[in-house]
Amino acid sequence: MSRPACARIDLAALTHNLSVARKSAPRSQVMAVIKADAYGHGVLQCADALKSADAFAVAGIDEALVLRAAGFEHRILLLGGIFDPAELDEAAAQNLDLVVHDAWQLAALRNWSGAKRVNTWLKVDSGMHRLGIPTTAVAGVAQELAALNCVRKVRLMTHLACADEPGSAHTSQQLAEFAACSRDFAGERSIANSAGVLAWPDAHADWIRPGIMLYGGSPFVGGNAQADGLLPVMHLESRVITVRDLAAGEAVGYGATWKTDHPIRMGVVAMGYGDGYPRQLGTGTPVLVDDQPARLIGRVSMDLITLDLTAVPAVGVGSVVRFWGAGLPADKIAGLAGTISYELLTGITARVPRVYC
Ligand SMILES: *Cc1c(COP(=O)(O)O)cnc(C)c1O
Repeated sequence: MSRPACARIDLAALTHNLSVARKSAPRSQVMAVIKADAYGHGVLQCADALKSADAFAVAGIDEALVLRAAGFEHRILLLGGIFDPAELDEAAAQNLDLVVHDAWQLAALRNWSGAKRVNTWLKVDSGMHRLGIPTTAVAGVAQELAALNCVRKVRLMTHLACADEPGSAHTSQQLAEFAACSRDFAGERSIANSAGVLAWPDAHADWIRPGIMLYGGSPFVGGNAQADGLLPVMHLESRVITVRDLAAGEAVGYGATWKTDHPIRMGVVAMGYGDGYPRQLGTGTPVLVDDQPARLIGRVSMDLITLDLTAVPAVGVGSVVRFWGAGLPADKIAGLAGTISYELLTGITARVPRVYC
């Protein structure tokens, strides 16, 4: 038997969550965001489960070429556009849509001598102040792009910084800025990430760009994905590999940071930060053992963690331990680790087999 750590991926849940996104924004086309190996879930299997999406979005050309090589003919948007003018030939040959977020990318298109034409999405900085051209430049740049021989279509997009805070004044301001600077633009627009899809109907526009919600994560701090009708897609699991009885006063794990104050029954599980389970999760973190609640004790190490199994006498060697997934939201564990479910999901390392069901 091989090491039992695995990420079970429920592709039916992924497809279900896509339908939630569609129902949330019924007048918009859906661009499923599958960057970073589909948020750690495995991009080819996820793209197949999401094939009814109207388009895919990835971070850069390498992620898109994997999809094209596997035969996906969807519209694919490169969210960062090109990183080097040398990418233009291949991007055009593979019919990839490009974000244009900076004057150097515009210049690269202007100077490009390729015979093919590409679709562009002009990214506007409406207040996030990360990528995008200033709102004051939109009309001019959109016109200049549209006039280039190598450009087929121009669309507009922007990204929201605070859509995860319901009622955020910053978001209302961004929506107003984007609407004002694009008032005379005749083409399609895209604004909403998952938080925009779920909480900001005014941001739905022509194309939504859901990511985390497809994977069953909540985009909201302290959010409850289940309440939004979303199902967890990744179930991170392993098995108990040994059970020991410890007397009072014995220390467990590296640093001997945790000591029993009464006799306990301890289980060791094949899971650690080498798998992407955060090391900062400490004593008290909840897990499910054969679907019953138990708690972490001591430090997370690279390959192993330790549990207090005193309260679950029926479990033993071979019992299934779930770290997140059904019954234990990744969002909850992320909160305990001081991060967000996005980071937990994308952080699962290559040695953890993804098992599809
Ligand atoms: C990653 C990304 C998204 C998806 O965001 P979620 O919060 O995961 O829904 C949407 N738009 C852009 C530009 C992104 O980079």
